[in-house]
Amino acid sequence: MGYIDNIIGLIEKRDSGQPEFLQAAKEVLDSLRIIVDKDSVYEKAGLLERLVEPERAIVFRVPWVDDSGKVQVNRGFRVQYNSAIGPYKGGIRFHPSVNLSIIKFLGFEQTFKNSLTGLPMGGGKGGSDFDPKGKSDNEVMRFCQSFMTELYRHIGPDTDVPAGDIGVGGREVGFMYGQYKRIVNRFEGVLTGKGIGWGGSLARTEATGYGLVYIVDEYLKTKSDGFKGKKVAISGSGNVAIFAAQKAMELGATVISVSDSNGYIYHKEGINLDTVKDIKLINRERLTKYAEKHKDAVYTDIGKGRVWDIPCDIALPCATQNELLLDDAKKMVENGCKIVGEGANMPTTLDATEVLLSKGVAFFPGKAANAGGVATSGLEMSQNSARLSWSFEEVDSKLKGIMAGIFRSMNDAANEYGKSGNFVIGANIAGFKKVARAMLDQGVI
Ligand code: NDP
Repeated sequence: MGYIDNIIGLIEKRDSGQPEFLQAAKEVLDSLRIIVDKDSVYEKAGLLERLVEPERAIVFRVPWVDDSGKVQVNRGFRVQYNSAIGPYKGGIRFHPSVNLSIIKFLGFEQTFKNSLTGLPMGGGKGGSDFDPKGKSDNEVMRFCQSFMTELYRHIGPDTDVPAGDIGVGGREVGFMYGQYKRIVNRFEGVLTGKGIGWGGSLARTEATGYGLVYIVDEYLKTKSDGFKGKKVAISGSGNVAIFAAQKAMELGATVISVSDSNGYIYHKEGINLDTVKDIKLINRERLTKYAEKHKDAVYTDIGKGRVWDIPCDIALPCATQNELLLDDAKKMVENGCKIVGEGANMPTTLDATEVLLSKGVAFFPGKAANAGGVATSGLEMSQNSARLSWSFEEVDSKLKGIMAGIFRSMNDAANEYGKSGNFVIGANIAGFKKVARAMLDQGVI
């Protein structure tokens, strides 16, 4: 057994109850064989043992009082994975499914993603099993304040800078920032995704979705092609999905689907994004409302069909982990899908990814394709440190440059290691090399 297999054995034994973490770690470790097997320096330095183990994992109680006066208790997490190349950076997720396995997988992925952006940011992730759905604004505020009452002591502008993720948007970041400021009595760049006018960066809201489309477009350009005239299927209807749809439409594509956790909409003539924004961003309603407003759109309940059954040229999974399964991948290939770009983190299962890659589908892994969000968070940190605000155009053009840079890094790494066109391997190797170099330089820590 080689070094990589030993490490896989180690985590399988030690973290056997953490399926999402094991899935993410195995995918990365497997693709590092080409580089790690060639150079004994990694094994001598125990580098992989250190890489798979977070520097710190904090689990805490979050008590709060609901509108009826009842005390509720949720569990909070912050996993500070790796600070070799900068302060920990990564979002906070509020969703009932959140547990240590999910936060560890996200923090692990984040380490490589942040490295790929070229900015000095380490990897971290946090969250809670709190479900903001159906809660009043006051309940969400009390929860966020309680969450931050513990979290504040572990974070800081040079230590750990959280942001949003599923269930954490501008409203939640605002409540958490207010509480942080109240406790430490400092106005500083400790969270990103803040409101414009109090330290937030223009284009941060749009960045993940826009960045996803920019990186796919960068690839299409190498084929003298573009989004114009393409049919794009998107899952999710949150932050990433909405702004990926917006940019794809701007570039001339027809976006034919969106989904939420109850079902999906197929709108052959093209999704009406204003309706989706009204439903999801303003009224916080379900997508069934969309079909009530657009009679030529079809709503399918989650038990009755899959969004990936819809024939498309480009698929952008933008909802959550493990939402694109083996049978979905087979169906997509059959239906002629040529490109899959992961807006969400790990939306595609390992077996589905293998099918897509083996059938020549251009596959863009989340750690590269959705890195536009954290990259722009990095730009928000720079603006906060310099006490400046850049224009939307300035941030957007930097984002475009970063996504083009990520495409080049993963494409070059794939070519260099004889795996042309395999962006999974390319992204993992490119992300790993920089973190590994920094860890080797800094000694056994
Ligand atoms: P949002 O909370 O804004 O939206 C999430 C969307 O996914 C909603 O439409 C939600 O539906 C749907 N969804 C959530 N859970 C499930 C589920 N179990 N099954 C089906 N659908 C589900 O989150 P974001 O758009 O911010 O995040 C989406 C993905 O992108 C996540 O994987 C996140 O980690 C990743 N990501 C986000 C970044 C960001 O900047 N926001 C940056 C990089 C990655 P419903 O309305 O029913 O809950």
